[in-house]
Amino acid sequence: WGVPYFTVNSSGNISVRPFGSATLPHQEIDLMKVVKKASDPKSSGGLSLQLPVILRFPDVLKNRLESLNSAFHFAIQSNGYESHYQGVYPVKCNQDRDIVEDIVEYGSTFCFGLEAGSKPELLLAMSCLSKGSPDALLICNGYKDEDYVSLALMARRLYLNTVIVLEQEEELHTVVETSRKLGIRPVIGLRAKLRTKHSGHFGSTSGEKGKFGLTTTQILSVARKLQSLDMLDCLQLLHFHIGSQIPSTSLLADGIGEAAQIYCELARLGASMHVIDIGGGLGIDYDGSHSSASDMSVSYGLDEYASTVVRAIQYACNLKHVRHPIICSESGRALVSHHSILVFEAVSSKSADPEIIGQNLAYLLDALEDDARADHRKLMASAVQGEYDNCIFYADQLKRRCVEQFKDGVLGLEHLAAVDALCDLVFREIGASDPVRTYHVNLSIFSSIPDFWAIGQLFPVLPIHRLDQRPEVNGVLADLTCDSDGKLDKFIGGDTSLPLHDLSGAGAGEYYLGMFLGGAYQEALGGLHNLFGGPSVVRVVQSEGPHSFAVTRAVLGPSCTDVLRAMHHEPELMFDVLKHRAEEYAGVHGDALVCSLARAFHSMPYLVYDAMAVEHEGAALAG
Ligand code: PLP
Repeated sequence: WGVPYFTVNSSGNISVRPFGSATLPHQEIDLMKVVKKASDPKSSGGLSLQLPVILRFPDVLKNRLESLNSAFHFAIQSNGYESHYQGVYPVKCNQDRDIVEDIVEYGSTFCFGLEAGSKPELLLAMSCLSKGSPDALLICNGYKDEDYVSLALMARRLYLNTVIVLEQEEELHTVVETSRKLGIRPVIGLRAKLRTKHSGHFGSTSGEKGKFGLTTTQILSVARKLQSLDMLDCLQLLHFHIGSQIPSTSLLADGIGEAAQIYCELARLGASMHVIDIGGGLGIDYDGSHSSASDMSVSYGLDEYASTVVRAIQYACNLKHVRHPIICSESGRALVSHHSILVFEAVSSKSADPEIIGQNLAYLLDALEDDARADHRKLMASAVQGEYDNCIFYADQLKRRCVEQFKDGVLGLEHLAAVDALCDLVFREIGASDPVRTYHVNLSIFSSIPDFWAIGQLFPVLPIHRLDQRPEVNGVLADLTCDSDGKLDKFIGGDTSLPLHDLSGAGAGEYYLGMFLGGAYQEALGGLHNLFGGPSVVRVVQSEGPHSFAVTRAVLGPSCTDVLRAMHHEPELMFDVLKHRAEEYAGVHGDALVCSLARAFHSMPYLVYDAMAVEHEGAALAG
């Protein structure tokens, strides 16, 4: 899954190849160095940000954009297609300002545009595209009211190449009436509800029962209404979206073929058609299998995707003698997934502690009743003989008897702990122990990897260092939230645990893990469960010199004050209430307590392992 952007370097750390090329090893950026710079107050120019942190690599984003455009350019040239490709980025994938602005800037040579699905998204698309190519498309999708339509029409008046795509037949009335009121002629697109159905997880938007788009009857009705209003020339674009992560080119060709026929029919009916917008769905290979068998991968690359699209449209148009349209795609996942990496720490891991037995065994044996003592003897004898089944049986029996004795008040907590530790040790010796250890990570899965929790989406997760050391432990990752769902226990390849290194050598916060390919959807979907909020974000670019990088922007994640405010609390009032209480009750400690409270409100919700980090946080960023 890492090809071509990620590799393991000779220090055993993950390196990023910002330009996706293995032939430029001097340009690789060591992730550990970036993490140190972002988090360590002692490293030169260190930013002292707390983890978790999202590292963004705009060079990777640029490479994705260029690769997509050159794949279409090549397919168009090699097939003799008589128009061009002009994509848009669906901002819902990740509305982060840097990402949208970068895409508009890097994409201006390709007339790359934006797609919006709501009023705030349209506002941000309008303002960002004002700095882009004047021909770039601004596609307005999503359900629309009069305000949305007015805004889209105003965008046309501002000379932004705006197309209002009807998601429902009823929207036509709003568009016609609003354009009359404002005196602005609209450019209209139609979203078709295709019969081609994507059967994968993301396919519920497609097929006859899909949520969006117009049926063939409704498409005909809209075309006739526009004709009767003398506005058929306004209808210029056909849009459809089969669903995200389209698994194979055969399904893609099916969908495109059907849509291209609708496009040709609209041209035959007299509409001024000139753009076919094939929606999103260009998939990525999360598990490296390059197979259409799971939702986690796709069986094609950018080149195969582009040539399938171009050929299917060309075939239908040639058959019907219709001019080749501009091809627009709304690829989100494929553009932004790779460029962003979530880095977080494992802070502890749970395993049996043999010291507990050493201290308490004699004490335990003294307290056991005869039956339990007999179980213990048999357990030890079976362990010496390596009798697996007997060990399990006597250990189980011994534990049960001890719990009974505990409930009767005969055994204490230390006795119970010693029995558990003894049985764990025996299990480990005979190879029956649960080999999976729980690693606690300084992260909220609900805030940072919501698709794992919501739809079982898997992302590559692994340590970003020590990869030259064999991992000895299998672990699952438990997050900070108090929720049992806040656990990563399924991994790429269907594994239920992850090969990890022992934490015993590392101090808290010295074992770093990365979640890769998560640049799309995760940030906007992430919620405020347990009020953790999102991570800080750092933007890293390749700079002059071998393996050199520069941090060009660092944005601190939400503080406790920010997340409280997001839930409509008023942190200033809360602080005042507590301050008065401190003045009333804390006596000579009042001032110190008030200072600590102020710091608490401004701190990050995640765990802090280096007190220095909190002190430095604001100062470093201000610098
Ligand atoms: N366009 C529309 C209308 C969508 O609903 C979506 C997402 O599902 C996209 C584009 C982006 O799709 P993807 O991220 O699969 O490219």
